[in-house]
Amino acid sequence: MSERRHDPTHGEWVTVATELPADARADLARVLAGYDAFFGVATSYLLGVHAAPTDGADRDVAHLHLDICPPHRGAGKLKYLAGSETSGGAFLTDVVPGVAAVPAGGVRGCGGAGMSSALARTFRDAVGREPEGLFSAPGRVNLVGEHTDHNEGHVLPFAIDRRCRVAAARRADDVVTARSAQEPGDTVTTTLDALTAARGWSAYVLGTVWALREAGLPGAGWDLVVDSDVPLGAGLSSSAALECAVALALAELSGAGLDRHALARAGRRAENDVVGAPVGIMDQVASLLCREGSALLLDCRTLGVEDVALGLEGAGLEMLVVDTRVRHDLADGGYADRRAACVAAAAALGVPALRDATPAMVDHLDGTLRRRARHVVTEQARVHRVVDLLRAGRPTEIGPELTASHASLRNDFAVSVPALDAAVETALAHGALGARLVGGGFGGSVLVLAAADAVEEITGAVTRRAADDGHPEPVARVVHPAGGARRETG
Ligand code: ADP
Ligand code: MG
Repeated sequence: MSERRHDPTHGEWVTVATELPADARADLARVLAGYDAFFGVATSYLLGVHAAPTDGADRDVAHLHLDICPPHRGAGKLKYLAGSETSGGAFLTDVVPGVAAVPAGGVRGCGGAGMSSALARTFRDAVGREPEGLFSAPGRVNLVGEHTDHNEGHVLPFAIDRRCRVAAARRADDVVTARSAQEPGDTVTTTLDALTAARGWSAYVLGTVWALREAGLPGAGWDLVVDSDVPLGAGLSSSAALECAVALALAELSGAGLDRHALARAGRRAENDVVGAPVGIMDQVASLLCREGSALLLDCRTLGVEDVALGLEGAGLEMLVVDTRVRHDLADGGYADRRAACVAAAAALGVPALRDATPAMVDHLDGTLRRRARHVVTEQARVHRVVDLLRAGRPTEIGPELTASHASLRNDFAVSVPALDAAVETALAHGALGARLVGGGFGGSVLVLAAADAVEEITGAVTRRAADDGHPEPVARVVHPAGGARRETG
């Protein structure tokens, strides 16, 4: 696998001016699909063509290189050392043991056309005809603005470079079938009038079909096949990625005039009413509306959105998401209790929601209510300070705001747990610019902002600290701000 040598099977040279011969293209696709199947994800590969021989002379022939890159890659390391003689090798295999031990299902694939065409093949094999279209939607992480959503405040999520893909085709009857590469062997077949009875993973898919039809989606049944490299249940919103990919596919293929806000509402409705999870609309809005390289400032009262460029790459920064693998359950009392405290605090202050409260007003509350409300009010202010810093082109300076968010969530909102605190503390002690728990709390993930060259040390330190403390082994993933749901080609 690791050997780099010249394979003479296809002849030594191809003419630069013409395409690869069709048989070579087919063989190439077969080889790549083989690697994808072997790793269980779309494997990164680099195709290089250079003039041959590379002695500087002017020639009209080229030499084809195909470098297969392993999917395990050191966090914060160069993605590709581009250049046809130079890819692969040390830059792509230098992972720390904690990262190398990531379960196969959690590795990062490059996605893109390779995965999409593999999905089209899977659809063909399973359904027995061509898909009408391939669509994808990303997972997300919330930069700042935690527990502000249910107080009608602001959040600042960005979509990440991990996506759920769906291959879809309309049917003439009222049958809906759903398959997922993450649920092998479980083909779900139902009818349009039984969609809300869906349980388990298919409730996300069939619930979205139901909610869209409630919103006016025309037409009959569907065949749907999905495959995702958003890790499930890791706080990166694999559920919204799934709902939004399905929602965009159905809306586009049926020609329904539903805008992206309507699709987001349908995804949320699926999750609220069919899955039974009391989530807000942030994840779906982020998955559908984010732009590459930017976060999305979402006003949870008006659902108004604004792009905010992150500028991470230019500043040499990376975002690391550390899944502590300490699990929380949103149905647990803690989450409902915090929401109720916010409602009570708003009522005591005589405002519609805590979004409307000021720090001075909050000072009039007592004890627990005061602390809960203070988190929301100060978190709102942090969202706006982060936005201002980003708009001023100073992303390096947002770190302290993230760390202050964590302190507020721990001290005032009381939703942190030791594994989250340990990850934040350790990341900061090893050079992180900022770190905070993300999501509802009581477990889940920590978001770390760091210089690219500090990420590996932070990952190693956080992993060792978890072992020392007797916590589960965390899984660290570098995430990049990606674009929202889209139609895929291939
Ligand atoms: P998160 O959204 O943070 O990943 P959730 O608990 O909200 O976690 O959603 C995870 C659930 O969504 C999974 O347990 C599964 O039921 C469903 N899901 C997400 N992606 C897929 C997929 N590609 N195939 C099947 N089910 C999926
Ligand atoms: Mg979710």
